[in-house]
Amino acid sequence: MRIKFWGVRGSIPTPGPDTVEFGGNTSCVEIRAGNALLIFDGGTGLRLLGKELAAKMPFEAHIFFSHVHWDHIQGFPFFDPAFVPGNTIHLYGGNNVSRTLEETLAGQMDHPSFPVHLSDMAAKMIFNDLYEGQVLELDAGGGTKVKITTGRGNHPNGVWAYRVEHDGHSVVYATDTEHYAVTDPKLAKLAKGTDVLIYDAQYTPEEYAGTAGRGGSKVGWGHSTFEAAALLAKVAGAKQLVLFHHDPMQNDAAVREKEKRAKASFPGSVAAFEGLTIEL
Ligand SMILES: [Zn+2]
Ligand SMILES: [Zn+2]
Repeated sequence: MRIKFWGVRGSIPTPGPDTVEFGGNTSCVEIRAGNALLIFDGGTGLRLLGKELAAKMPFEAHIFFSHVHWDHIQGFPFFDPAFVPGNTIHLYGGNNVSRTLEETLAGQMDHPSFPVHLSDMAAKMIFNDLYEGQVLELDAGGGTKVKITTGRGNHPNGVWAYRVEHDGHSVVYATDTEHYAVTDPKLAKLAKGTDVLIYDAQYTPEEYAGTAGRGGSKVGWGHSTFEAAALLAKVAGAKQLVLFHHDPMQNDAAVREKEKRAKASFPGSVAAFEGLTIEL
């Protein structure tokens, strides 16, 4: 498998001179498993992935949405290959609150917020609503399958986490989830023995508690800390931890410091940056 990060920021894009090292685009991760193309979330990083994929059309892709908060869907209307007939895009997500994934993606492109409607996108789109614990097996070429298991995190309006397995390797994508006083047993199970755990490490413990940074306590906002990330990685027996969904308030130096502190408790930690590629 090959994992590539196209957007690693949480909440809102943060371009500018203070974020060039880690990048300012919101959540989007590409996973290649055999010849299967999987994409996790459609934040603004998806636009850049779309530019690369435009040279490889027609293609079939599977986009898994963790949930439909803005920072996970805003790149979708700018995903160029979705406008090109011949491409096939399977979209997976939860039926959040009162709308399906399709209704939500169409809603963000409705007049007067956006000039082009979802129905103007000419690629073939197939929508799939997921349920907790669902296991999908997709063709990955060469007689192999890639297996995707759906789990649930702890986030306002709900969030899906995913475990991807292919050819003896595994990756877990668990963003936008708040830790509990004890390690989340569902995520520890989902991430058991995984090669790579990509996890919400939006805050430092001090930012989370409200003793540092702006805005007071972040308890109940649905995000985690690098400290809880390191603990989950240890409990699950993950080999590598990728700190993901950096807070928009964190500049490059702050993310670097966060990475350094995470490494002290879990040496296999790395802070996600745009372009980071992991081969398994
Ligand atoms: Zn988010
Ligand atoms: Zn969210």
